[in-house]
Amino acid sequence: MRTKAIIYLDNFKNNLNLVKTRVGQDRRICVSVKANAYGHGALQIARESLKAGVYCFGVAAVPEGEELRKGGIKAPILLLSQPHPNEIPGIIKANLIPIISDSEFIVILNKQAAAAKVKLEVHLKIDTGMGRIGCPALEALELARQIKKSPALKLTGTATHLAVSDSADIRDLEYTKQQITRFKKAITAIKAAGIDPGIIHAANSGAVILHPDAWFDMVRPGILLYGYKAVQEFELPLNHLKKLMKLKSLMVEPVMELRSTVSLIKKIKKGESVSYGRTWIAGKDTYMAILPVGYADGLPRLASNKWYVSISGGIYPVIGRICMDQCCIDLGEKPNVERWAEAVIFGSDIVPEEPELPIIYHSAAALAETVGTIPYEITCNINRRVPRLYK
Ligand SMILES: *Cc1c(COP(=O)(O)O)cnc(C)c1O
Repeated sequence: MRTKAIIYLDNFKNNLNLVKTRVGQDRRICVSVKANAYGHGALQIARESLKAGVYCFGVAAVPEGEELRKGGIKAPILLLSQPHPNEIPGIIKANLIPIISDSEFIVILNKQAAAAKVKLEVHLKIDTGMGRIGCPALEALELARQIKKSPALKLTGTATHLAVSDSADIRDLEYTKQQITRFKKAITAIKAAGIDPGIIHAANSGAVILHPDAWFDMVRPGILLYGYKAVQEFELPLNHLKKLMKLKSLMVEPVMELRSTVSLIKKIKKGESVSYGRTWIAGKDTYMAILPVGYADGLPRLASNKWYVSISGGIYPVIGRICMDQCCIDLGEKPNVERWAEAVIFGSDIVPEEPELPIIYHSAAALAETVGTIPYEITCNINRRVPRLYK
């Protein structure tokens, strides 16, 4: 097989159990499976999650919800983005829970739900400082009232989203605290008016790591479950760290490993160039391997001349421009690599057996850092033509 993504479901299960232990077994979990579960396969991830007792799922688009329903997922599904009115029939049919930010949409939704003779669950979204969807905190009570008065709608949750929960910077910790305070105030006002806000939720992965105050009734982690920590606890200022000391560090493991195959080995003479743009020129005679993986598969072109792959226990640099479907690897003067050997493009960090040797950072998070992005974008971009193999 040319290139494949191995999905280690055991790692996912372990990561999920670590999160459950951290937030408490009784707290509900909404697993973020939008964008095909960040490239890992939404249906397989959802099935594995349900085995571990997860409560619900978060998707961004109606077809993502439909895919889960077709696959037999019966758990609640939150639609985390603002849909278009012409998507409402699909929402009703797939029994998705839309997230409400404004009065106009409540009217539209109530009308369509009434016409379809259903009582549609909705969650109210409050913008406490994310600056994206959600209503201003001061309007939350008014919207909760409007939902309550809408005969075809039922308010079963109230949520907010945190902008900098994954930052250990002292100003960002303070900003998150402010967001939580605003959220709590709005919830208090809703309750004081005799309205049940339903399930209260705010925490993404960053907040699962750093902000127990944001856990409320349910947490909504994504990236952490796929094995990437947006933030390390040890980066925290000391007083915050002490508070978190009771909690164990979350030793999550990457769930995805991208593998390819050495499809060709060639001799390259000193002075010869490799790939488009001639950005790499051999300083001496060497051997080169071709891997049938490129930016169309999701290996970022910006990693050209910057990344390393692991083949048969050795680490070898990517040389020259990464092409759409292929890339080139320098095997050195005396290659220890056989044709058709498997190459790991990214996966877990490589810890050498000799303790004095450095760890080779080789996860999607390390690749992301190399090209100036975040691990989310790396795993999401692994193209559909790359088969997922579940282990
Ligand atoms: C994507 C998303 C999450 C999960 O975020 P992570 O950073 O992956 O944990 C949580 N809540 C909302 C509203 C989201 O859109």
